[in-house]
Amino acid sequence: MRRLCILGATGSIGASALDVVARHPDRYAVHALAGGHRVEPLADLCQRFRPQRAAIADPAALDGLAAALRERGLSTEASAGPAALAGLAADPGCDTVVAAIVGAAGLASSLAAAEAGKRLLLANKEAVVMAGELLFEALARGGGELLPVDSEHNAIFQCLPPGFDRDLDAAGVARLILTASGGPFRDWPAADLAAVTPEQACAHPNWAMGRKISVDSATLMNKGLEVIEAHWLFGAPGDRIEVLVHPQSLVHSLVEYRDGSLLAQLGSPDMRTVLAHGLAWPERIAAGVEPLDLVRAGRLEFQAPDRQRFPCLDLAYQALRAGGPAPCALNAANEVAVAAFLERRLPFTGIAAVVEQALAADRPGRIQDLDSILAYDAAVRRTASAAVGRLGAAA
Ligand code: NDP
Ligand code: MG
Repeated sequence: MRRLCILGATGSIGASALDVVARHPDRYAVHALAGGHRVEPLADLCQRFRPQRAAIADPAALDGLAAALRERGLSTEASAGPAALAGLAADPGCDTVVAAIVGAAGLASSLAAAEAGKRLLLANKEAVVMAGELLFEALARGGGELLPVDSEHNAIFQCLPPGFDRDLDAAGVARLILTASGGPFRDWPAADLAAVTPEQACAHPNWAMGRKISVDSATLMNKGLEVIEAHWLFGAPGDRIEVLVHPQSLVHSLVEYRDGSLLAQLGSPDMRTVLAHGLAWPERIAAGVEPLDLVRAGRLEFQAPDRQRFPCLDLAYQALRAGGPAPCALNAANEVAVAAFLERRLPFTGIAAVVEQALAADRPGRIQDLDSILAYDAAVRRTASAAVGRLGAAA
């Protein structure tokens, strides 16, 4: 019986995880659930899954959460604040942590789970982009294991040989190939992109996801973050990570071997497959996902990404090459810009401009501890907010 802590339980990945968990009550018990600031959805999940502990990131929501749990007649212990979430991730009462908080807000708890030696199902890609080195040091100290909960990285994990230890050459791997749907604006002319609305950007053609990652998919920054994620997860330099646009989102990624073999993982675009894989690995369990009918699927198409119309992809490669805290700057500026775009304070094309300015600024060399990374992240956010003000006003 695995005992789970699900951080970001009220989000899209949280829902996929809990859907799989509910199908296997004999294998999984929910020990702890955590959310960001929405009390009622978290309390409803507590009523359904009966965790021992629940936490909410917003400290001001503690009384509300405690009251909502009492109203439902639950004895679930409530806590609040970022430190409470990190505490849940390290709780000896759980052995498996699903890290599905969106953004830099998930870094401390993802690190805490790694340090505590948990099985870490990592969806929170921003954490590995910001602090890949710290995360892998923490994993090594903790002695746990990381299973990727990003469809592309999970696909690559499945296509790599058992026991793969972040050494492409030892495994005979030439390149990793990440597929990208291309997002809702894949075929739009460049001139139309400035007027894109948040509603259009969040209407992803193939996947139902949270708003932030939906915008990232539309700018291709999501693929850029995933290139950096693949670098850390699989020990791959940027020039051995390729991006291929595949509009059908059925081939989730590929591994090219030295001998010319290309191994791919295919499936319906449904994150429950990925969650089920991570939860049960190395076993396989039912995920509630329809098997992929290749006859009905028809054509599978592949094309090179358009790096001019979607400059965020190259900005991410640039940050990876620069190394040190450059990926942290990329991520922080992107989070600020995406939030501003969703609040209609910045045009869609302003997102790449804000990130580009953040990468052009001076930055420290290597940053080696969590507090310094968080301080640097906060400094980049301040500069990026000022850039949003300028670019938003000019638009
Ligand atoms: P959602 O927006 O659907 O959910 C986000 C979750 O994080 C919610 O539970 C939210 O709580 C919580 N949260 C928000 N802000 C904070 C905070 N400051 N502190 C703690 N918790 C917070 O996002 P997704 O589920 O789509 O994405 C989650 C992560 O998984 C992202 O990193 C994303 O890139 C990654 N991912 C998602 C995929 C998908 O298919 N959705 C695919 C691959 C990766 P509340 O409800 O209270 O706001
Ligand atoms: Mg992905």
